[in-house]
Amino acid sequence: MKKITKKILVIEDEDFVRENIIELLDAEGLNVLGAENGRIGIDLAKTQLPDLILCDVMMPIIDGYGVLSALRQDSIMAGIPFIFLTAKAAKADVRQGMELGADDYLTKPFTRAELLGAVASRFKKQAAVHKQYHTELRQAKDQLNYLIRNDNLTGLPNRLSLQERFKQVQPADTEHQQILTVLCLGLDRFNQINENLGHAFGDLLLKAVAQRLSSCVDAQDTVARLNADEFAIILATNPHKQDAVNVVQSILKSLSQTFVLANREIFITASIGMAFYRRDGKELEQLLSNANKAMLKAKQQGGDQYQFYTATFHLGSSDRLTLQTSLRHALEREELLIHYQPQVDLQKGQIIGAEALVRWQHPERGIIPPDKFIPLAEETGLIVPIGDWVLQKACKQIKIWQTKGFPSLRVAVNLSGRQFCQMDLRQKLVQILMDTDLHPQYIDLEMTESMLVQNTEVAIRRLNALKSLGVQIAIDDFGTGYSSLSYLQQFPFDILKIDRCFISNITNNSNNTAITKAIIQMAKSLGLKLIAEGVEKAAELDFVYHHQCDAIQGYLFSPPVSTQEFEKLLTTKKSLPLPPGYND
Ligand code: C2E
Ligand code: CA
Ligand code: CA
Repeated sequence: MKKITKKILVIEDEDFVRENIIELLDAEGLNVLGAENGRIGIDLAKTQLPDLILCDVMMPIIDGYGVLSALRQDSIMAGIPFIFLTAKAAKADVRQGMELGADDYLTKPFTRAELLGAVASRFKKQAAVHKQYHTELRQAKDQLNYLIRNDNLTGLPNRLSLQERFKQVQPADTEHQQILTVLCLGLDRFNQINENLGHAFGDLLLKAVAQRLSSCVDAQDTVARLNADEFAIILATNPHKQDAVNVVQSILKSLSQTFVLANREIFITASIGMAFYRRDGKELEQLLSNANKAMLKAKQQGGDQYQFYTATFHLGSSDRLTLQTSLRHALEREELLIHYQPQVDLQKGQIIGAEALVRWQHPERGIIPPDKFIPLAEETGLIVPIGDWVLQKACKQIKIWQTKGFPSLRVAVNLSGRQFCQMDLRQKLVQILMDTDLHPQYIDLEMTESMLVQNTEVAIRRLNALKSLGVQIAIDDFGTGYSSLSYLQQFPFDILKIDRCFISNITNNSNNTAITKAIIQMAKSLGLKLIAEGVEKAAELDFVYHHQCDAIQGYLFSPPVSTQEFEKLLTTKKSLPLPPGYND
């Protein structure tokens, strides 16, 4: 490598001194330029860009200070090391020079050793500065490398590094045994968390989720964040499909454990789609896209579950469109009907009321459950006329049964978010009460927490306005949202319905047992009536019975049934055999 000769500019009006310095430095193999006054010095500095300037202080026309301040104001020349040559060693002069930005000074007369020492130490410093600069540059590059490969918020790899990772772990064509699984994971209802609890909280949650995900997989696996609430995972170490399923189940379980963030307890669930290398695609993009379709399917089925990709998923969207069009006509064509599910009290085991659950009797597809069309009706706004219809129809039916000999039978009607937001909901309810002559005390309006937490103050005001009519308010699907138990205390509920996800298999799931006990305790302390939903097994009944819930609803007693069948349950006085020892 060619050695670069350093270039030094000497600005000195005394010819003898200047020539002497030039000679000395020249002998050291340096490239030296001379200037006999400040003006020439500045010009030479500009054109030659020396590595070092030695400059006399006392000079005619422009003195040393003038030269230095001119140089320091120039963006290119400001960085050139500058040494003053001064006959005066007065402290004030030295200070003035240093304040102007000189790097060093030499007092005349100086020896050869002093001169060479000052020059050498300047160059050494410059080398150190260069080294520092290169270190910083390398750090900046590393940082940039990290930034373009990792997600800002969670620090997880992003799509780019996932791609790189995929190339590394992609099995060779000969390795047919090795199974590579690509997962797409989405948090259920994450938008609501962001909207209701704020983005800062959403971010906290995403970070915590990222940590949990990372702790669920092997070191050779990769967890990446794709966008807002979507993560991708490459499972690289599973010889069998069942191993991958086990990991997925452990992920779902881990995410369903309470998060405690910013003094708030939050429960979340996730949906996972699984795609397998080779079977569902050979390229990462295709595997991700298929895993994503499977994830959407898991979400459609209610979330908190996993789905494998199957090639028929693409039917979904056109299916949706047809449904949407025919739903518009469903009301006019009287294709909607209501099934009633008994609510049974746990004191006497008798039917005390019914939850009205809408169904769609589709001319070609048969009965379509509400989960398949209510979300669509919500999106399109059709839920408002549908909801009005259900309310009207159910109240009318209950009044009929009351007059047939069941005078205290209650009805529970589900309200959707959009319905709850209608300005004239209270007025509509008054109209229905007048039309059907049903006493408001027999009506429970069921709503979910997600409808209420968006604007707490407004929600409380609305609830109170409805309650002032005499109806009761039930909080539905309790525990599946994201609010802490104590947060919901501020709403004026009368009834709390424990969601069936806590009730199902309650005796085998210690987590569910603990949550349900806590919910019951809180509801009791608030004086709420408790209804356990989804009671299917005797052991579940036993649990809610002994923990003193007030009523149950579930397949154990009866699924939702048609009007005729419900009437049969009433007239035959079907009752629930209760376990012994309620009052133990
Ligand atoms: P939901 O309000 O939580 O209703 C209870 C759901 O749990 C019903 O499903 C019922 O059939 C089901 N269920 C009851 N007992 C059991 C059990 O022991 N085991 C199991 N596995 N399931 C049980 P359905 O009728 O399919 O209704 C689903 C959801 O659709 C309802 O959930 C409610 O959110 C919504 N929905 C139904 N009717 C209406 C309506 O008129 N308006 C609105 N806005 N939503 C409605
Ligand atoms: Ca309900
Ligand atoms: Ca429910």
